[in-house]
Amino acid sequence: MTPNDKVIYMDNNATTRVAPEVVAAMMPYLEESYGNPSSMHTFGGQVGMAIKEARRKVAGLLGAEPGEIIFTSCGTESDSSAILSALRTYPEKRHIVTTRVEHPAVKNLCENLETITGHKYRVTRLKVDGEGMLDMAEYEAALTEDTAIVSVMWANNETGVIFPVPEMARMAKARGILFHTDAVQAVGKIPIDLKSLDIDFLSLSGHKLHAPKGVGVLYIKRGRLFVPFLNGGHQEHGRRGGTENVASIVALGRACELAREKMVEENSRVKKLRDKLEEGLLAEIPKSILNGHKTARLPNTANISFEFVEGEAILLHMNQHRICASSGSACTSGSLEPSHVLRAMGVPFTAAHGSIRFSLSVYNTEEEIDFVLAKMPVIIESLRKLSPFWKG
Ligand code: PLP
Repeated sequence: MTPNDKVIYMDNNATTRVAPEVVAAMMPYLEESYGNPSSMHTFGGQVGMAIKEARRKVAGLLGAEPGEIIFTSCGTESDSSAILSALRTYPEKRHIVTTRVEHPAVKNLCENLETITGHKYRVTRLKVDGEGMLDMAEYEAALTEDTAIVSVMWANNETGVIFPVPEMARMAKARGILFHTDAVQAVGKIPIDLKSLDIDFLSLSGHKLHAPKGVGVLYIKRGRLFVPFLNGGHQEHGRRGGTENVASIVALGRACELAREKMVEENSRVKKLRDKLEEGLLAEIPKSILNGHKTARLPNTANISFEFVEGEAILLHMNQHRICASSGSACTSGSLEPSHVLRAMGVPFTAAHGSIRFSLSVYNTEEEIDFVLAKMPVIIESLRKLSPFWKG
């Protein structure tokens, strides 16, 4: 039996529970205030005011101005919008700098830009070391006159490793190059103050910070040119056509407000739980290895490889105890290929295959950590007994 026989949800980098306060904030915009914010009547106009308020709250969390925030449908749309806008703004520039460990939202877009356009664009993918960190000298050398945009994630979804984005943005700005960061995993987990940074575009996604799925944000620094990805009506000041997903936008505003109020205190509690889980697993299970930098890492994420066992098999056994985690990113699970992130870090095949990502949230408890710490050694030992390679 799990504590209270509930699901133990440790897959928060895949998606998060919508906070009860957030559900309460959005419900009136599904039930009563269903007007179109573009309508002339007061009924619609009030909805427009709610969007304005949400924009203010998102900007507050990011240290941005409300006019720098546009609402999108997801993190993926925000990423595409930023990168494609830069290429359209500077059609003479054909080079993109990114990393080998980006989420498919950026990775696959860059691949398509190379192949579908018949190699019109050139992409430099920065290497990472064994801890998932970048080489800043390689980055500096990659920036050229031809570079239209740099797109580097702030925090990695699989390992939680945090890149030195403020410094990288400064270096891009010094060379007059636009800088985009996919901050989908970082927002709400680490403090961000955009007014003091040289970031031109930033993407975030509602469902990673206790708002619903299907809403995201693209931050566009004041004064930057922007070519819309979705053309249509005049919504979002002409920068993103399409009737607004009002209830989810209101929800995202409330989630950002909560994150701003509680982030520091809650993240330190989450980090203590994560550290207890991580240290316990590494101590109790032989041949278990932490993937990613020990300290430059999100407070909620622990990616651990259990050598000589298959991640999928571990997940199935965990599932029997109602423990939810993930092997690789949610988007790549289902394929038996080891994660491109762990491969880029040089994690050996035997370890990459047995990697599990635990990603916690404010809703996890110490009781749950104790339960997982009691179950995992038993699961790993039973699976290793079946492995012809295990000589334990
Ligand atoms: N970027 C990162 C780093 C992510 O972790 C994710 C989702 O897992 C995305 C982008 C895509 O966000 P969305 O699901 O909102 O499209």
